[in-house]
Amino acid sequence: MSLLLKNATFIHWDSLHFEQADILVPAVQDAKITLMKAGSAEPDGHKVIDCSGKLVTKSFAVGHHHVYSALARGMPAPPKAPNNFREILEYIWWTLDKSLDEETIRYSALSTAMAAAKAGSTFVIDHHASPNCIEGALDIIADAFDEVGVGHLLCYEVTDRDGQERAEQGLLETARYLEKRQGLVGLHASFTVGPDTLGSAVEIMSEFDAGAHIHLAEDKYDQEHCLHEYYQRVVSRLNEAGILESSKTILVHGLHLDAAERKLLNKKTCWLVQNMESNLKNKVGLFSGNNLGSNIMLGTDGMHSDMLRSAKAAFFTGQIADTINFKTAYQRFRNVHNYLSINNFTGDGENNLVVLDYDSPTEVTKENFTGHFVFGLSANHIRNVISKGRLIVENRKLLTVNEPEVLKEASKQARRLWKKMGR
Ligand SMILES: [Zn+2]
Repeated sequence: MSLLLKNATFIHWDSLHFEQADILVPAVQDAKITLMKAGSAEPDGHKVIDCSGKLVTKSFAVGHHHVYSALARGMPAPPKAPNNFREILEYIWWTLDKSLDEETIRYSALSTAMAAAKAGSTFVIDHHASPNCIEGALDIIADAFDEVGVGHLLCYEVTDRDGQERAEQGLLETARYLEKRQGLVGLHASFTVGPDTLGSAVEIMSEFDAGAHIHLAEDKYDQEHCLHEYYQRVVSRLNEAGILESSKTILVHGLHLDAAERKLLNKKTCWLVQNMESNLKNKVGLFSGNNLGSNIMLGTDGMHSDMLRSAKAAFFTGQIADTINFKTAYQRFRNVHNYLSINNFTGDGENNLVVLDYDSPTEVTKENFTGHFVFGLSANHIRNVISKGRLIVENRKLLTVNEPEVLKEASKQARRLWKKMGR
């Protein structure tokens, strides 16, 4: 059944034009919405949501996420504290992802999709690893996201870190998934992907006209390793391999880039994803968009699913390390929609919307909206979420899945996962 949002203050996400309207929202993927003069629409045949005093705008999307880390929250610390980025990966994430199985992947994905939906995101771009449960992992995630009603662009994080057999399984899972659904060719990072695996990944990219999704210069180690092994810097290595040629390619982090690398990336149509909180947590450096062009979007890097929070982190930390203002913070936050539409990915259409219950002591206008975006708006203001024209969150409650039951089971699965990890 179509939805009718009555008496809304609609904000066009790209122009920030404000319009008082009744909004007809068809329940068909990527359908257009119709704006009518407020008070004019007939309620017959639609589910009506009274939006008087509410702001309605396009819902959000996550540019880079990791479903695999969802059950790590509150996990006991590793026996030995990591001292650097490589040890953070080895002691925490590479121990966790090796312990994932079908059930823990499913509950990681359900928890992630639920958190994303409640924080206003109706689309997630994910980068997944589960070296002891590779075949079918992406289907488990896709099915869980579909169940919650959140769109997705998934990939399996191919790597040589667990040997050639696992790398080949990762490539097979990628090709198997791309045969039937939209997705990307995932690679962990240059320092864990050797020449043969990189070459095979590029072949899959060209076979399926897909982009790559890879961590780039997150830590200095990625550059040091590349110089030592291949006598070149990471951007040059990826460029020679053909990774940067696709406008679908997503490079994640990009902290340790020199002037020549920035210049080269600026000329390409591929995209960079900034994940400021993750960079702070891992003490790897701070992102700067300087001389990188405008193809920058934001992600959460698996830390949480709240894109408004990611935008605030980008803005505030950016006051030290970056050139960023209200407008560019908002632009980066919204660029994920441009990435998805330019590349004809489905599931991020006009009929993905949020209804905001935004109480402000000052007026909200087209002129000052980005100030409210940085200093005022938070996930607490998200009242209803509409995905593909379907109401999936109503009055802050998920309608598509039983959230308390899923969380209870997720917590049980998390304890099992931690035990498997020896925690
Ligand atoms: Zn990441």
